[in-house]
Amino acid sequence: MAHVPSPEKGPSLNVGLLDLGCVRNTVDSQDLLASFARKGHRITSVENADVVVVNTCSFIEDAKRESIDAILGLVDLKRKGRIKKIVVAGCLSQRYGAVLVPELKEVDAFIGVQKLRKDSRQAPAVLTPAYSSYLRISESCLHQCSFCIIPKLKGRFVSRRMSAVLKDAEAMALLGVREINVIGQDVTAYGLDLYKRRALADLLRRIVRRVPDVPWIRLLYAHPSHVTDDLLDAMARGKRICRYLDIPLQHVSDRVLKMMGRGTTHIKTVALLEKARRRVPGMALRTAFIVGFPGETEKDFRELLRFIEENPFDHVGVFTYSREEGTAAYRLKGQVPRAVRQERYERLMEAQAQVLQGLHHSRIGTESEVLIEKRAEGRMDRYWGRSPWDAPDVDGGVFVESRRRLIPGMMVRVRILGDEGYDLRGEVVDERA
Ligand code: SF4
Repeated sequence: MAHVPSPEKGPSLNVGLLDLGCVRNTVDSQDLLASFARKGHRITSVENADVVVVNTCSFIEDAKRESIDAILGLVDLKRKGRIKKIVVAGCLSQRYGAVLVPELKEVDAFIGVQKLRKDSRQAPAVLTPAYSSYLRISESCLHQCSFCIIPKLKGRFVSRRMSAVLKDAEAMALLGVREINVIGQDVTAYGLDLYKRRALADLLRRIVRRVPDVPWIRLLYAHPSHVTDDLLDAMARGKRICRYLDIPLQHVSDRVLKMMGRGTTHIKTVALLEKARRRVPGMALRTAFIVGFPGETEKDFRELLRFIEENPFDHVGVFTYSREEGTAAYRLKGQVPRAVRQERYERLMEAQAQVLQGLHHSRIGTESEVLIEKRAEGRMDRYWGRSPWDAPDVDGGVFVESRRRLIPGMMVRVRILGDEGYDLRGEVVDERA
């Protein structure tokens, strides 16, 4: 954990935090806030803060730009005397701290990424809704994908001890959390360092037993090369494990997969998806693809298009390739022009929109539990929530009509009546708090 000044050496401060990047950053941000609170500082909104900590991301170009913009916004506030100190944490500061220090003199400290220890406990969730929490089981990654800077930034792969993970899950349950989202850079590697085996399925089963009152336990970020039969069985048998699997595939052309260093092939990927659907009926699948990777031809791209038409995914994230210094792919020949990357992005998104229509129509008439998140804008009897097929922050959800007032965190049974863009729509058939 970063060094946090304590008030014995100075006054107690109002500390606010800007959380950028992925949900793993959110867990780090909560740990950071907890360390400030332990030192006697007060946690406030950014508007009321003396010190603002910005937890940055630098995974791809867009994330870097967002982080720099946020820092410049804070520099402006400091110049106007509205805040006293700026602390830059996270990936951007880890990666570019040495370059940024002379450029951003108004920043008081750059503290890099937080190192996870195997016995670390997780700070209480204060940046996510009271009913949904992220449970981090590991940090960093054992793979070396040629486009990815994460293993360099995050350092050695670390799994947290099962006992620590289970205590955190229990603490979440005691606070009334309805959904625990299990995260890591690659959750399928869990245990390889600590227990010398892939222990994710075992861990999941233990979490299910330890938190009998948490209705949804969801797994995010599984590497396609390491989804084991044991894991699929745990998902099929664990009634409270969401039938949802997030498997970032990145591509399906063997040429591109090889250049990416993904350790899998098109045929193996199709076989995995077929097995996942057979062993865990009703499983919702999420994936992510990169378009415009160096050397990707129109033929490779068409293979990807055909793949998502033949293998429908409930959720697809599409990213244009971002050329990152320090990665192996940075030096690859055949960088794809920005305009081509953008055009492929749009074509893939369009193809996914068509796929989604078909999937949505197949859900009409079915019933599902929905976790209510908020009231929909402009209507008193309309709400928005998520089914077990939708992860927080990244997926669509379900618009729900109900004559009875619903509150965030409630779970209701909903009959699906149709769709609206990326979301479904339905009506309540049963309500239970
Ligand atoms: S598996 Fe994911 S986190 Fe690990 S190196 Fe590849 S892209 Fe990066």
